[in-house]
Amino acid sequence: MNSALKALNKYYGYDNFRGDQGKVIESILNGRDTMAIMPTGGGKSICYQIPALLFKGITIVISPLISLMKDQVDSIKALGIKAAYINSSISQSEILNICSSLKSGDIKILYVAPERLESSEFCSIIKNLRVSQVAVDEAHCVSQWGHDFRVSYTYIWKFIAGFSKRPVVTAFTATATEKVRKDIAEQIKLNNPVVFISGFDRKNLKISCLKVGNRFRYILDYIRANAGQSGIIYAATRKEVDSLYEKLKANNISAGRYHAGLSIEDRKKNQEDFVYDRVDVIAATNAFGMGIDKSNVRFVIHYNMPKNIESYYQEIGRAGRDGEKSECILMFAPQDIITQKYLIETSIQSSDRRISEYKKLQCMVDFVHYNGCLRKYILNYFGEQVDYEECGNCSNCIREGEYVDKTVDSQKVLSCIYRMKREFGVNMIVDVLRGSSQKKVLQYGFDKISTYGIMKNYSKEELSNFVNTLIAQGYISLKEGEYPTVMLNSNSVKILKGEEKVILKESTKAEKITTNSDLFELLRSCRREIAKEEEVPPYLIFSDTTLREISSRYPVTPQQMLDISGVGELKLKKYGNVFLKIVKKYVYENKIEPNWVFEMNLQKNNTGKNNKLKTFEITVSMLEDNMNIEEISEKRSLTISTVLSHIEKYVEQGKKLNAEIKFYNLFTRDEESKILKAIKKLGMSRLKPIKKSLPDSISYDKIKAVILKDFIMENNN
Ligand code: ADP
Ligand code: MG
Ligand code: ZN
Repeated sequence: MNSALKALNKYYGYDNFRGDQGKVIESILNGRDTMAIMPTGGGKSICYQIPALLFKGITIVISPLISLMKDQVDSIKALGIKAAYINSSISQSEILNICSSLKSGDIKILYVAPERLESSEFCSIIKNLRVSQVAVDEAHCVSQWGHDFRVSYTYIWKFIAGFSKRPVVTAFTATATEKVRKDIAEQIKLNNPVVFISGFDRKNLKISCLKVGNRFRYILDYIRANAGQSGIIYAATRKEVDSLYEKLKANNISAGRYHAGLSIEDRKKNQEDFVYDRVDVIAATNAFGMGIDKSNVRFVIHYNMPKNIESYYQEIGRAGRDGEKSECILMFAPQDIITQKYLIETSIQSSDRRISEYKKLQCMVDFVHYNGCLRKYILNYFGEQVDYEECGNCSNCIREGEYVDKTVDSQKVLSCIYRMKREFGVNMIVDVLRGSSQKKVLQYGFDKISTYGIMKNYSKEELSNFVNTLIAQGYISLKEGEYPTVMLNSNSVKILKGEEKVILKESTKAEKITTNSDLFELLRSCRREIAKEEEVPPYLIFSDTTLREISSRYPVTPQQMLDISGVGELKLKKYGNVFLKIVKKYVYENKIEPNWVFEMNLQKNNTGKNNKLKTFEITVSMLEDNMNIEEISEKRSLTISTVLSHIEKYVEQGKKLNAEIKFYNLFTRDEESKILKAIKKLGMSRLKPIKKSLPDSISYDKIKAVILKDFIMENNN
């Protein structure tokens, strides 16, 4: 097990295993067939890669994500692991090259597309090699019950049976259902496997469900508040994706789009633009994202409600794979339910499956209306017991937003519905309230009723959202059918009579997910440059987590750099100097004493706190640790006068200093009274005249120290 940890540190630069990783690896190293179920971003790859490194022979990884194989292999090669891949994009002669490298032991890990297993030529070459592990990634693809069934996955057992000495077989997936789990073990013919099921909670994801008036406005504000961060915006239909994309472009947002209606080339290019950080956001249907390993996706927004919790959780799972704080925002409007029902009706033939899809949809609808902890709802849905009531990181636990009294506006809507006499859909009501001169409106004579045009202050979208919110809250009923119509109910009557108020929670304004420090931005732009040169996605150079740690711990020696999570030996060799240079320049320009900060942060890390301190705060905290001014000056290589100005700054912010400063180490009482006299005569707006009027032995430091003691500190107490 020690050797596994060593490999984790040497190649990946991580100190500890996450969750079940250690146990999974141990089981594989013991030669047991192993199945691990971990959430997206849980760190499945390391579970088969480390055994691959420690086993004598070759590991074959079967992965369905052909478009990502190159990135996956590039990323482990960048760690110093000998790896290659074979899929349909690889030419015959290249395959021959790879095979000879396999024979000579120059490749430890080979990624193959499942289709390859159907080629007898390939199988016969592999048979003669020493294969110690076959790892099946995204193993749910073997199951017809899973959502990404792949026929070629059903050949895996045959492929394995072809070896004279059976390798250890391992399977990995994020799909949890019992049915799929059983199916995997049976289909791949795992031999008495050890099964690990990790918790599904993704604590770093903030889960929000919002009912906003103007969805696009909100998105725009949000993206602007988080400019430069990567995010995915999911919409239900191609049409909606296209329209979102156009609107984003029109507002100068760096955006791409992805849906099955685009050509293969366009899809490939748009996906790459996103993965390589060439665009910030991508508007997409659920066709996008399968196996997107991009680790720095900071937000996933659902512009529409997804069809079920399974898809929803998979889609938001693409945020924050690096473990950094990320946000998932679902924007719900009642027409989303109608869209999803329509999609079920038109895309599913079997009535059994339709019923099951309707049930799942209902759970999704319940979710968006749920008042309790959203995280708990999801985890319970997947059969996981949760021992808390509130997670503290979902929109219901945080209870953001302001409550606004919408009674009057609601009465306007309700009385309009009442006056229209017959039942109409939401759009017609909106048209009347906004005073539209559409033919249909005039035909019915709605321009004559008193509510005609009384809500012109709303945009069409806002008003339709408002009406839909009233429906979602039960103040109006919806009569479903091909053309759903609205009706008043007993709640409406109470509102109209003024017996009850309508208080709605207006969603808060878009906020920043995280604030990046200057140094982080410097490191990030350096990463971007390197990525461009090497033609790899930036997150493969270093993850956001790694950059963030560098920017708060200021490593300035290679040894310290190695101590940063995500910096392994090879990465240190390749990029260490470039990044060290930036940190050194930064700490020099900002007068930060790096070694000291590095160690202090280390202690703070151990106690769980890790706040970046400003340079003057460091001085103060040293002072509070009973160091005197000279010691601080020496330790931080700062002048006495700088140290004094740090204290000054701190005190001037109105903060109380919990330390006694031994001023009389800095000047004598006699010097003090001379300085005070000079100040009385000359004022203290300028130090130079004071200095000139005093003997040479009285330095600027002494003058500053007296001012600090007798004026600034005095005022403060
Ligand atoms: P999965 O395949 O389970 O979705 P990955 O294997 O792609 O997840 O890992 C997700 C991210 O987590 C990667 O950036 C990986 O480097 C990181 N990671 C994995 N294990 C650890 C660990 N023990 N410590 C820190 N980061 C880790
Ligand atoms: Mg994976
Ligand atoms: Zn919660």
